[in-house]
Formats: sequence, structure tokens, C-alpha cells
Amino acid sequence: MDALQQELQTLDYPADWQFKIACSPLLWDRVQRKSDHPEALFAISELKHRVTFLNAAVFRESRYVYRRAMKHELGHIRCGCKSEDEAEKWARKLERQTMAKR
Ligand SMILES: [Zn+2]
Repeated sequence: MDALQQELQTLDYPADWQFKIACSPLLWDRVQRKSDHPEALFAISELKHRVTFLNAAVFRESRYVYRRAMKHELGHIRCGCKSEDEAEKWARKLERQTMAKR
């Protein structure tokens, strides 16, 4: 998935972090049901197993949408928590940093 690789160059994910992409709605459905994030649309991270599941559908959205989703997941990794508020705080912080670099 080229788009994913490209974003990873600028997003500071841990080197050993894994990504798994659910290529079909059916697979995503399965990922959602196994996780404790049944409402997550595009991405779910399992901090314990150091893996983020991505719904392939997110890459059909605009770049802003999937970048934002990846930043949000990175937020979970950074805070080491499942709190949506904390993850969003990190995502917004990363957003400001990328803006400043431009
Ligand atoms: Zn989240």
C-alpha cells in the first residue's frame, strides 16, 4: 500500500510497529468485532500486540482523512492508553507540528 508507506515516512511510528490492512468490508467487520472498538470506522490499534489495523477504505478517502486517522492511532501509541480524548489531543498536537514545518 503506497499511500501507507508514504505517510509512515513523516509519521513517527515506532520502528517495530506493525500494520495490517483489512482489504474488504467483511474483513474490517471481523477486526471490529474482535476488538473493543466496535464503532471505529477506519483504524484500530492493539497496543499490547503493537499492531494497528487499517480499513483499506480509509485510503479511498481524502489524504487528510487517512492522515488524521493515522495520527489518532499514533496518539494512542504515544499516550499508551485507549482514551479517545487523549489520542485526539495527540493528533491535534501532531497536526500543529506538521503545519509549522510547512
Ligand atoms: Zn481511538
